[in-house]
Amino acid sequence: MAQPETSKPTPPLWQDGWYRFARRLESPNFGPRPAGVKPALIVIHAISLPPGDYGSGQVQRLFTNQLDWDAHDYFRSIRGLKVSAHFFITRDGQLWQFVSCNDRAWHAGESSFRGKDNCNDFSVGIELEGLEGLFFEQAQYDSLSSLSASLLQAYPIHHVAGHEHIAPGRKQDPGAGFNWAMLRRALGLGPASFPADTADSAPE
Ligand SMILES: [Zn+2]
Repeated sequence: MAQPETSKPTPPLWQDGWYRFARRLESPNFGPRPAGVKPALIVIHAISLPPGDYGSGQVQRLFTNQLDWDAHDYFRSIRGLKVSAHFFITRDGQLWQFVSCNDRAWHAGESSFRGKDNCNDFSVGIELEGLEGLFFEQAQYDSLSSLSASLLQAYPIHHVAGHEHIAPGRKQDPGAGFNWAMLRRALGLGPASFPADTADSAPE
């Protein structure tokens, strides 16, 4: 007799570095992590394409090399750019995944964290749809918090930083509008897990 539908086991939360609750859209822009290196850091970014336009779908196109470079002046200025992040969270909290967390996505560029260069090697990159310096939506914090908590369970991650902290002077995202206190509370991590200048980013 056939097994009833309800007896199917629940799929695991993570499978080969892919998160069950994310929409999977595979990017060709990735590579292997160095041998034996596991993610130890979450890097928070802000992005929107063109900057300030939300819900356009263009970020997903950029990360999959499908962007029409001639569709906007701004796109011409980044023509040929090959980048990716592991995750993208839209303004309404929708979660997309482009690269397995077991692999190395191309989000950080030239960067350094606690004396270690090339943060792409040992980090998971999460892009929030937004503009650096401006605010983010509660739905984004909700998605980010549950995703980050799950990442902390699955990987030996002990730190969270912004792109601005690992590429100071070159990058400003996510910027002053990002509520670090909210993420800290949600994850139950101590201040030592966050960059020093995020300690008073918002009242506790
Ligand atoms: Zn960034």
